[in-house]
Amino acid sequence: MMQKIQLPNSPHCPKCKKLLDGVALPGMDPNNMTPMTPFPGCVNICCYCTQIMIFTADMGLAYPTQEELRTVKADRALWRKIMLYQAQVRHFWKAKRHRDN
Ligand SMILES: [Zn+2]
Repeated sequence: MMQKIQLPNSPHCPKCKKLLDGVALPGMDPNNMTPMTPFPGCVNICCYCTQIMIFTADMGLAYPTQEELRTVKADRALWRKIMLYQAQVRHFWKAKRHRDN
């Protein structure tokens, strides 16, 4: 089952400007194995354009800094998850376009 978390505010993707008010497939809290609510500094991927973003202090979304992007890429397991998720999102939208035409 896909876990979803509703975000307290309504941030928009800095790239495609779409509203991103929910988080799918959040990380799991290792203490109680419940979906983790994102916090400032967490990585997020736009489910429309696959842009990598970072949650800001006020839980908005911003492009990662070069330093943040380096840190994310240095975590090989996390980077693999991001690449996989981006591929799944691209596949989803491609299949949807195909269906809708
Ligand atoms: Zn986007």
